[in-house]
Parts: sequence; C-alpha cells; structure tokens
Amino acid sequence: MYYFDHSATTPLHPKVKELMSEVGELHFGNPSSVHASGQKAKTLIETARGQMAKAIGCNSNEVVFTGGGTEANNLVLWNLIHQMKKHVITSVIEHPAVLNVLDNLGEFGVTYTAVGVDETGMVNPNDVQNAITEKTGLITIMLANNEMGTIQPIADIVAIAKKQSIILHTDAVQSIGKIPVNAKELGVDCMSFSAHKFYGPKGVGALFVSKGLKLKPLIIGGNQERRMRAGTENTSGIAGLGLAAELAANNIHKTQTHLNELADAFKSQITYICPNAIFNGHPEKQLPGLINVSFPGFRNDLLMIHLDRHGIAVSSGSACSSGDIKPSRILSEMGIKDDINNSTLRISFGYGNTLKDVEYLTRCIKSTLERIRSAA
Ligand code: PLP
Repeated sequence: MYYFDHSATTPLHPKVKELMSEVGELHFGNPSSVHASGQKAKTLIETARGQMAKAIGCNSNEVVFTGGGTEANNLVLWNLIHQMKKHVITSVIEHPAVLNVLDNLGEFGVTYTAVGVDETGMVNPNDVQNAITEKTGLITIMLANNEMGTIQPIADIVAIAKKQSIILHTDAVQSIGKIPVNAKELGVDCMSFSAHKFYGPKGVGALFVSKGLKLKPLIIGGNQERRMRAGTENTSGIAGLGLAAELAANNIHKTQTHLNELADAFKSQITYICPNAIFNGHPEKQLPGLINVSFPGFRNDLLMIHLDRHGIAVSSGSACSSGDIKPSRILSEMGIKDDINNSTLRISFGYGNTLKDVEYLTRCIKSTLERIRSAA
C-alpha cells in the first residue's frame, strides 16, 4: 500500500513495535504491585514519562498519561465544571475532541466563544483578546490544524492569556514529530498529545500539565498518574509512546527536511499535471508534509475511490469525517466554497515515504483526472 494519510494515523515505528511486544510479553506486572514484576513495569512507565518530558521540554512530573488525544482534551475541558470562570475561548477549526466537548459542557454552565480564521486557516490573536470577558477561565487553541496544517500563533495567544491570568491549553496532537514542540518555550499551561500520530500506538496519549496546576480526574478510581487519571496503566502502550516521542524529537530536523522535500516535489509535479490545482493553507506557517489541495471540477470522493484502486491511501478531510462527503467544516470556515471544498484532498506524508512514492502518487492522480474527465 502507498500510504499518504499520516495525519489520520501513523504506522508503528519498528523500534516501538519491538519494545511494546517485549514489554507486553515480559513486563506485564501491575505497576502498582510491590513485587519485582510490578516495579519493573513502574520503572518502564517512569522511563517513558522522562522520554516524553524531554521530547516536549518539561519536567517528568508535568506529564500525565491518558487514553489518547481525545481524553487529554477532555481532561482539561471537563475541569471547567469545577471552576468559577466557565467561559472558554476556542477557535472554529478545533478538532471535535474540543468543540463537541464544549457543546456537551453547556448543560453544566460552560459557555464558549469560537473565534474565526482567515483564508489561510489562521487565528488572529486580536480576536482572542477581544473575546475575553471577566468570566473567561480557559483559552484552548490548537497548535496546528489537522486538515490544513496551519500553525497557529500560540506564543502571541499565550502572552494575551498570561496578562489576564487565564489558563491556556493547546491541542498539539498534530504537531509533535513535525515541528519542535517545547512546553516551556511556548509557555502554555496544558498541552495534549496522541501517540498514534507520531509512530506510537493507538489509544495512548499524554497531557502536559504545568507545575502548580492541579486538575481533577476525569476518570476516577485508584491513585495512578498523581490522581489525575485512574486505572491500571497500559504499560506497553506508554512505553511505546515514550520511545516514539524520543525518536520523534531526536529526528525532528531530519524528518522536517525529508517531509519538505516530498511536499515540494509533489507540489511542483501537481502544478505541472493540473495547473488549476489550488493549494490551501498558509504559505509558510504550515506543518511539513501536510498538503491540502483542491482539484476544481473533480469530486474528492471519486478521486479517493480511483486512488484507492491504485493502492493509494489519502484523505478528503480529517480522519473523523472520512466516509462523509459533506463539505469539510474547516475549509468552509476558511471561506472555501462548497464546490472547491468537495474537490479537496489531504495528502500527509510520513518519514517512510520516498520521492519514488510521490512520483507514483502524482502519476496516479494524473491518470485518475484523465479517466474521470473522459468519462464525463
Ligand atoms: N486533536 C487533533 C488535532 C487530532 O487530529 C486528533 C485525531 O485525529 C485528536 C485530537 C484525537 O486524538 P486521538 O485519536 O488520540 O483521540
């Protein structure tokens, strides 16, 4: 298979796979048990915590493991019900793991303002500033968007939040492994991650919670994760996340160069094949290797079906909305009209892709466009 859907999920890194199977087989003790097997499992979890902390520039005791990115976001957002200030500022292009949660929190008195984006998918920090009320207790704006790849001006938004002592959360699920992510440099209070987006396992994530900020657990039970996330830990998954984070951080510059090279080759080949193709997003503030491209006059569901027959996996939007041919909500929010919206593909390259793969992809896109055109 030719896989170009790494923003939806990534394959396991072979070293991660190896470690996880070793941990699952040999170190299955309960990390809360006092015997050697349990203590070994606990050590593996703390090693992973250290790896994650190093990868994102924070202290180990600021990392809480969760059951994925969705849960990490929920953990932050559900804490609003315990706060006096229940107004949230977010953006219209957040993942459903933020916006749908906020909708559900309405019945607990939580209100929110979702600021818009410009035609490149960028939030304007002034809009965040203007949305602040005396009831604002949280600002949650993603670090980079999953469909468009636009990198948001988080540092400017952090500065606004700090001035008013408002907690700042960012969903960095799409960012780690593609751009440097440093919690201390960004100055955020909380930040969400998901291992399956950076060659780790599915169903495991992490939340950076800055020292001094205490969150009430969403999942209540035992005392694991400093009482912020109960339940017997997924040792092999957490060990896999830790190693995946370490590999992602250590290889960041190499990965960026590689992904940029693939994206540049793709863009120039597509521009040649289909001169009216439109590349959406920001020209510079963009996740490497993520391309959002419209082929005016061609329905994206047909394009995907044809490409799938060539063994090619691409997406027409975020993973959560694939299979659904409704126009992408994110593109609509950027002001992209429905006909162009419905002709858009998301191509997201990974470290395993090669220039030869890109050539195959563009060759298949060319033949697909010709076939659809001749059948019309
Ligand atoms: N946030 C963003 C920006 C995402 O892209 C995703 C996954 O698509 C999530 C959150 C959810 O993460 P998970 O799949 O680990 O629940």
